[in-house]
Amino acid sequence: MPLYEYISEHADDPESSCRVCAKGFELRRPVDREPLKVCPLCRHAVKKVISRVNTPKIAKPLSISDAKKAGFTVLEKRDEGVYERQ
Ligand SMILES: [Zn+2]
Repeated sequence: MPLYEYISEHADDPESSCRVCAKGFELRRPVDREPLKVCPLCRHAVKKVISRVNTPKIAKPLSISDAKKAGFTVLEKRDEGVYERQ
């Protein structure tokens, strides 16, 4: 059975994805089975990841925006002046 990788269609929206599909997950499925359309856990829409080579989560180091996308630092209080223009 081939291994497919899926990721949420709404990875940046915690209300439309769960921790599993927001980061992407792998699933073995028979070739003759229909492609997975929804996350098995939260039932929200997922899409198949075509290329594993250039997957951003592998190529990019974990950044604040990535963590924020995953819903981890949304409530974090930031120091004033961090984004101040020079
Ligand atoms: Zn999910």
